[in-house]
Amino acid sequence: MTQKFDVVVIGAGPGGYVAAIKAAQLGLKTACIEKYQDKEGKVALGGTCLNVGCIPSKALLDSSWKYHEAKEGFAIHGIEAKGVSIDVPAMVARKNSIIKNLTGGVAGLFKANGVTLLEGHGKLLANKQVEVTDKDGKAQVIEAGHVILASGSRPVDIPPAPVDQDVIVDSTGALEFQSVPKKLGVIGAGVIGLELGSVWARLGAEVTVIEALDKFLPAADEQVAKEALKTFTKQGLKIRLGARVTGSEVKKKQVTVNFTDAEGEQQLTFDKLIVAVGRRPVTTDLLAADSGVDMDERGFIFVNDQCETSVPGVYAIGDVVRGAMLAHKASEEGIMVAERIAGHKAQMNYDLIPSVIYTHPEIAWVGKTEQQLKAEGVAVNVGTFPFAASGRAMAANDTGGLVKVIADANTDRVLGVHVIGPSAAELVQQGAIGMEFGTSAEDLGMMVFSHPTLSEALHEAALAVNGHAIHIANRKKR
Ligand code: FAD
Ligand code: AMP
Repeated sequence: MTQKFDVVVIGAGPGGYVAAIKAAQLGLKTACIEKYQDKEGKVALGGTCLNVGCIPSKALLDSSWKYHEAKEGFAIHGIEAKGVSIDVPAMVARKNSIIKNLTGGVAGLFKANGVTLLEGHGKLLANKQVEVTDKDGKAQVIEAGHVILASGSRPVDIPPAPVDQDVIVDSTGALEFQSVPKKLGVIGAGVIGLELGSVWARLGAEVTVIEALDKFLPAADEQVAKEALKTFTKQGLKIRLGARVTGSEVKKKQVTVNFTDAEGEQQLTFDKLIVAVGRRPVTTDLLAADSGVDMDERGFIFVNDQCETSVPGVYAIGDVVRGAMLAHKASEEGIMVAERIAGHKAQMNYDLIPSVIYTHPEIAWVGKTEQQLKAEGVAVNVGTFPFAASGRAMAANDTGGLVKVIADANTDRVLGVHVIGPSAAELVQQGAIGMEFGTSAEDLGMMVFSHPTLSEALHEAALAVNGHAIHIANRKKR
């Protein structure tokens, strides 16, 4: 007999698994289909984020930062640490055990919430029927009241640097190196390239990042991007802007990369090369020809602001649709869709999705940049506060960077918070909470912040918007 569900979710990444749990919590009979297999051949939930994305990269970033601190950052505190060394396989094994813990946790949550896990490949047929094919090729068709497509994304390949997961790797391969490459090339100075480049640079690799664009971090506030480029360069990352990779050759476990920049044809040789030039939606064999679901011109599933596709009752969320390719964006879309299926009037605020780059210093922002607002003709007041003036940052010997708060010059409403520095992601989240409630810079300035905290830098930057900062000279006084 055909199995019937109120909701069938295809893909158990942070979009799909969260949608499935929420739908089940709202009393809907829910199934989630997932095919990803871990190294032991077992189906693992959590998608890119838990298996080969957010979590493993942060595990390696944290491990490599501790190593770097032990080597370079202890002496100033009077701590002697001689003979510090790194066991890369142990570091990677720790990362793998975190993944196992978390993906197992999602499986436990499915059980606890009554979500039925169907292992295999899901394909949407006509009339909200879904075909599930297990790893042995056995197919069954199930019926769904509603379908949520959450098949995620995969790394973009470029013909000049074909990935072999040995010498030329993508982000997944770069999480698995078993030793520190002496010379590491990274194609793409986006979030993933900078994070993974940082991991291996901290462990001793000589890292060169090759980026086609002339501008560094074009999505970030210009002041922050400038500060970031200066800091990363000081840290030893060689960042070649305006450099487009045109070819590569692997020979004797090394790769020679050809690229062109303002000076003409260039060539560099590396022990490993990470290709981090973006991600593209996964829709391979996801939609039957008569499913009725439309795609946009870039291969993303076409949806409206409520994540509805061109077929009533079929939704799509996360990396497979337009918008930021971020886990928290995917999850919130999952919650919105589950609530709408259950009859609630949920909406998502796409204007307040925080972005984070987990380098050191971290870079994070929410809302608009100063240049975006200027281009829109919005008059703004800007307040900044450098961590160099923060007592807490000094105590931690981590004084690089600044907090920048941008407010509407007429209403004082905060329109953007941008941070480069220690705990930037956590500070920006405070800005996001305030902005969700329509905070003014004055509101933030009037709140009591604990002393001494890094958060005080946000407080002072908010005060500085109207020339009222206490711990730094104000540019403008009222
Ligand atoms: P995915 O996580 O890609 O999950 C989709 C799932 O669907 C996969 O498990 C896949 O196997 C499954 N699937 C696909 N097709 C089918 C099918 N037909 N049948 C069955 N199953 C199917 N984001 C952040 O917010 N913060 C970070 O710090 C961060 N760091 C990252 C670091 C790296 C190295 C990478 C690569 C990404 C990072 N991201 C980060 C991005 C984040 O991982 C994605 O935005 C997020 O995973 C998208 O979630 P999703 O549910 O849409 O898709
Ligand atoms: P993101 O999409 O943020 O992950 O960033 C990927 C980066 O890779 C972008 O900044 C692209 O400009 C860059 N990129 C794409 N193709 C090439 C190429 N052939 N050579 C160098 N950089 C590239």
